Amino acid sequence: MRYYNLKDPRLKFGFRDAVIRGISSDMGLFMPETVPVMEPQFFERLPELSLTEIAIEVGARYVGNDIPPAELERISAEAFDFPVMLRDIDDRKQVLELFHGPTAAFKDFGARFMAGCFSYFASHDGMRTVVLVATSGDTGGAIASSFLGVEGVDVMILYPSGKVSTLQENQMATLGQNITAIEVEGTFDDCQAMVKGALTTLDTGSRIRLTSANSINIARLIPQSFYYYYAVGRAGGSKVISVPSGNFGNITAAAMAWRSGLDIDHLVAATNINKVVPEYLSSGVYTPAISLPTIANAMDVGNPGNFPRLTRLFDDEFCRITSGLSGYWFDDEQIREHIRAEFERTGYILDPHGAVASLGLDSYLEEHPEKSGIFVETAHPGKFTGTVEPLIETEVEMPDSLRGFMKGKKETVVMKSGSEHLADFLTCRYSSV
Ligand SMILES: *Cc1c(COP(=O)(O)O)cnc(C)c1O
Repeated sequence: MRYYNLKDPRLKFGFRDAVIRGISSDMGLFMPETVPVMEPQFFERLPELSLTEIAIEVGARYVGNDIPPAELERISAEAFDFPVMLRDIDDRKQVLELFHGPTAAFKDFGARFMAGCFSYFASHDGMRTVVLVATSGDTGGAIASSFLGVEGVDVMILYPSGKVSTLQENQMATLGQNITAIEVEGTFDDCQAMVKGALTTLDTGSRIRLTSANSINIARLIPQSFYYYYAVGRAGGSKVISVPSGNFGNITAAAMAWRSGLDIDHLVAATNINKVVPEYLSSGVYTPAISLPTIANAMDVGNPGNFPRLTRLFDDEFCRITSGLSGYWFDDEQIREHIRAEFERTGYILDPHGAVASLGLDSYLEEHPEKSGIFVETAHPGKFTGTVEPLIETEVEMPDSLRGFMKGKKETVVMKSGSEHLADFLTCRYSSV
């Protein structure tokens, strides 16, 4: 499998090089040359396949010869050592729970698979890898936990100061070892721009390899498609899938699974008031915006990085995009009211991100009464007790995996916004290596 640069399709790389580069020097995203089409026999067996078995079969098409099958099997089994759950909410609605991993958010899937790939590549060429990641909340914790203690890899996590929860901050800023948390005086978009800037301009010589772990990295995107096969295999029929979207990696992965032949009826992109994509889908005009803070803060993204990949999967044709994809957006009041109402109606406890997806699914199903669907629950509600508990007037258990994070001591590097500050810091830190 080869990966081309979305900005310059003549530039192509194998899986390993696309993963290590993260993003190309002109900031173009890597995209698989063709989405592998899976055979009918694969889909017949799908209801019986475990997530790891799906990862081995689908993943092999994406990694090609760059990771041998036995290594891919080991990476997948280690990465996905926690369950995925599909539950019924009512007779038209199911929930795909992706929060049973170590940081209780779906980013564990992509981060752990990518960490496995990096550690495999680092063990092969012995080069020190510095992974840069910008986060609006949950990514940082998932990356930190996935890379903690990985030989030959340092991780720098940039997050907007004061704009993440205490738990999210503790997940990235208390681990130490090879994990450095950088608190940026700015927004998530500033953090993302700093990472892109450093990756495209900094020359670190031949002993350090700089790369990115954002959802722009193809090694995070690919594993996020595996659980859609798992869900559809068990859902009983063709479903609408509603994905709570911020940087649009998760829904792009769903669209990749659909392009490979998976029977998805329709995709719903559900967002908070950062509504660039829903607006594009109704007007045909894409207008990036400054990100606005919401209670579903892992989705506070004004200019979603993966959107060009998503439209490419529909051949960049507006009529194809809108026939396969709908968009809805919701404000904090609607999200709060829905968490309260769904708890009262069904007893199910939503987190603010899953609530956006559930609202999006409801909106679409209302317009299509003959259909049924799955919404994606991307975080455990116990990560957002401050928002959720007053709404449902019930205590929400924090998952065991998260309790430990509340104890550690925070250590961060405080940095002004601007890629030159990150460049200075990296040059200084690694000049003597
Ligand atoms: C990151 C995140 C999202 C958004 O996913 P994208 O792939 O960026 O669209 C949704 N919910 C939670 C809990 C997240 O952490």
